[in-house]
Amino acid sequence: MTQPIFMVGARGAGKTTVGSALAKTLGYKFVDTDQHLLRTSGLSVADIVDREGWEGFRRRETEALKAVCSPLTVVATGGGAVLAQENRDFMREAGTVIYLRSPASTLANRLEDAPQEDQRPTLTGRPITEEMMQVLNEREALYQEAAHHVVDGTQDPAQVVDSVMDALALPMA
Ligand code: ADP
Ligand code: MG
Repeated sequence: MTQPIFMVGARGAGKTTVGSALAKTLGYKFVDTDQHLLRTSGLSVADIVDREGWEGFRRRETEALKAVCSPLTVVATGGGAVLAQENRDFMREAGTVIYLRSPASTLANRLEDAPQEDQRPTLTGRPITEEMMQVLNEREALYQEAAHHVVDGTQDPAQVVDSVMDALALPMA
């Protein structure tokens, strides 16, 4: 299997952390769509949202998803990538999609512990646990719809990588 592997999930789900460890395990390349945008446009997610709004960012994100899609690659997507049907369809057809699933409280704890690693502006300006609950309410069904495999993302990163490896050996859902 050489198709790309797309990591989906909310902010703090471990898409970057687990995705890069998974790439190492598989001997795949690792790319992060946010990093790709920064590299190609010189703009961070926050810069793009400032200048072009979330709508402009979402458009660039769809382009980025397609641009980074290549064989033997693990792609960490943005938390909102699944919002667009076009992105969900594209990822499902182009590769294998893994949803790293954790409850809002876990996501919020991680983001609070390492706020500097999260380059994304908050969506609502509300307290982080509340915001993550709202985000999961809105997106849980979309993450599930996009994903070939749903993986428990609450364990430590090495264990999550093992779970993903197990899932990749299964027939696609
Ligand atoms: P994402 O790319 O999905 O937004 P990150 O990989 O950047 O998430 O992880 C967000 C924060 O949570 C980082 O500080 C990271 O070290 C931590 N983290 C990620 N995955 C785990 C995990 N499985 N267990 C504990 N901490 C994690
Ligand atoms: Mg990330």
